[in-house]
Amino acid sequence: MDHYAVFGNPIAHSKSPQIHRWFAEQTGQQLDYQALLAPVDDFEGSARQFFDQGGLGANVTVPFKLDALVFCDQLSPRARRAGAVNTLQKGKNNEIYGDNTDGVGLVRDLTGQLGFNLHNKRVLLLGAGGASRGVVEPLLKAGVAKLKIANRTPEKAQQLVQIFHGLQPDAELSAGNWASLAGSQYDLILNATSASLSGDLPPLPDGLLAPGALAYDLMYARQPTPFMEWAIQQGATTVADGLGMLVEQAAEAFFLWRQVRPDTAPVLLRLRQQLQE
Ligand code: NDP
Repeated sequence: MDHYAVFGNPIAHSKSPQIHRWFAEQTGQQLDYQALLAPVDDFEGSARQFFDQGGLGANVTVPFKLDALVFCDQLSPRARRAGAVNTLQKGKNNEIYGDNTDGVGLVRDLTGQLGFNLHNKRVLLLGAGGASRGVVEPLLKAGVAKLKIANRTPEKAQQLVQIFHGLQPDAELSAGNWASLAGSQYDLILNATSASLSGDLPPLPDGLLAPGALAYDLMYARQPTPFMEWAIQQGATTVADGLGMLVEQAAEAFFLWRQVRPDTAPVLLRLRQQLQE
């Protein structure tokens, strides 16, 4: 049996084992996928042991995406630019290759499941943490006209602009704090802050959503998040959470490991049903 895993701390809540087992079932792949709790101060020890014992690939979640970056022998260009790794793969000579599938997962959910065309759109990204770092590149490459990154600590948003400026010279890339948003309008607002985790919402001005706008919280929950509630009150045409992104980033990792692309729609449907039970 081929062994895969997800590392995190905490990890018991992770939906990745379920998603990958459904992918394996659907595509007829023989593999096993476990959730592994790594000590906060020793991701390297846990990951090393897993690969030494024959593990072929792993996903990495909070708080280990930076530890995973350091652990890798080789990085994909998108993982290097994002400064974070969420997918590991063992190579032929036991070298560890690191990738970041979060951003492409988000873009696939937006353009595929939600049918949102990113080309020429004005996009607001809230937050400048690990998730934001992973999504900037694929958003720019999808042809957005404007990407504004706003964060509680604006210097961190500014750092992202410095890393990614020039990647897509036609796109207008800028950064600021919450107050800098007043008077502007966006076709897509992405909440990549972790504020929703504590039932919080960044202090956003009214009128940010353009007619027909989509509001997307990268977090997912059984109930709409505070950001989703805010977006509904502000008149968003479509509101979504990050469950689709979770499934899509997993599908990209599965493809990297097995060279087979699973059909994500039925898996997302089952997962949504399970979340609401
Ligand atoms: P990080 O801890 O790296 O970054 C957190 C970000 O949120 C920072 O920008 C921080 O601002 C901001 N923030 C935290 N608390 C507040 C608050 N109360 N008000 C305003 N801003 C706040 O987290 P990640 O980037 O890893 O994750 C962000 C979110 O994305 C989480 O909800 C996570 O669950 C989700 N996610 C979803 C995925 C999916 O597949 N659906 C994948 C990855 C992440 P500051 O810089 O000022 O501290």
